[in-house]
Amino acid sequence: METETILSTLDNNKEELYFKAKEKKENYYNNIVTFSRNLFVPVTHQCRNRCGYCGFVSDDVSSWIKPDRYQMLLNKAKEANCKEILITLGEKPEEKYQTARDFLSKYGFDSTVKYVENFCELALKENLLPHSNLGILSLEELSLLKETNASMGLMLETSSERLMEQGKPHHLSPGKKPSLRLKTISTAGQLKIPFTTGILIGIGETWEERIDSLQTINEIHLKYNHIQEVIVQNFNPQPNTPMAEWSPPSDEEVLLILSVARLILSHSISIQIPPNLNKTRIIDALESGANDVGGISPVTIDYINPNMEWHKEQTLHKQLIDSEYELIERLPVYPQYEKYLNSRLRDIIEEYHKNEETLYSNNR
Ligand code: SF4
Repeated sequence: METETILSTLDNNKEELYFKAKEKKENYYNNIVTFSRNLFVPVTHQCRNRCGYCGFVSDDVSSWIKPDRYQMLLNKAKEANCKEILITLGEKPEEKYQTARDFLSKYGFDSTVKYVENFCELALKENLLPHSNLGILSLEELSLLKETNASMGLMLETSSERLMEQGKPHHLSPGKKPSLRLKTISTAGQLKIPFTTGILIGIGETWEERIDSLQTINEIHLKYNHIQEVIVQNFNPQPNTPMAEWSPPSDEEVLLILSVARLILSHSISIQIPPNLNKTRIIDALESGANDVGGISPVTIDYINPNMEWHKEQTLHKQLIDSEYELIERLPVYPQYEKYLNSRLRDIIEEYHKNEETLYSNNR
């Protein structure tokens, strides 16, 4: 759909947008809603960037997760039958902090990427599947992590360079430069890494910029066929941040952008809506084009939005059944991209499919 057509439909015929988006979603996903049972590992809160909305970032070196604590978390994940280890952190902290460089060196590493790669190895030893989201990465870094990750992620957030201007949320965040993020997403495509990206809505972007972000993501996917899901994440104000007093996007804005995303993106790309940020409109979000609710952790909180508790899996399951949706667990790699992975990862995945026939798979 062309930008002008979308903008005019947004102005004049919202019902048509909702209708077409729902129809497209149902043709491909029917009533199935997927999620991944995961362990969320915030490796460090130190970060070279300073985004205006971020309540996660901290200068404190004690925020690093040490290997012994990590192993304890892996054990808990296994007990809770998690399959995915979601590894996230502040971007390239060693560029900014001597304390980060000292911490890494104490454990024998010269970069955060290598520290995380070791964490991914430890996860695989427990037959747990890493999904790392480490910010901008080079071809060499992505190639290294591809060996131990079932999938990887990087939120585009927005294709708007304008939001890097003074007074805008990305002004102090060199890592949020859209051209750099798009390069990482494209390089992951060249390397055939199953990939998650997404947009962040409500940080001052225009509708034209939202549409451009989605169209740009789709163009990269059409070139490389590696984007398995796009997260539509709504801004959620955090205390003690420059944007603490900003209003989050309205219900209507969230639902409309979901419909627009569904109409712009290829049908095979899952559209993910974080359930804890959309508790009161989760069914409406599914009706508007979303088909995935992302990671739900029985072990850890959402460290990015600590004020937003995750659903209990059973509660969400019941809520969806009541609205005639079926909630199905999936792995961090979608079935059609398992072929991109090495045999070590595929062997673990095969075991899961063998032992748990209800997992989302190619047979559905
Ligand atoms: S949102 Fe991410 S990149 Fe931005 S400051 Fe926070 S941790 Fe760093």
